[in-house]
Amino acid sequence: MSCIKATYLLEKEKFTPLSLFEKLRKMWHLLICHWCRKYKSDSAVIDQWLAAAERASHKIKLSAQEEKRLREILKL
Ligand SMILES: [Zn+2]
Repeated sequence: MSCIKATYLLEKEKFTPLSLFEKLRKMWHLLICHWCRKYKSDSAVIDQWLAAAERASHKIKLSAQEEKRLREILKL
């Protein structure tokens, strides 16, 4: 499976359950692919920040450390 397909499945499972076949393919890919494991980790951090921002009436207030981490993830 390609990294594009693996990251698609990582995002898809946030909204709908994966089939058993999709779960197995995703798990196998994550075992062998460092980049998709990093994508999964970074994506979870960004999702948490976005959820916190939404709870704070759409006002994004990141600490300096959070902003630095977000810039690293986004390669800014
Ligand atoms: Zn990958």
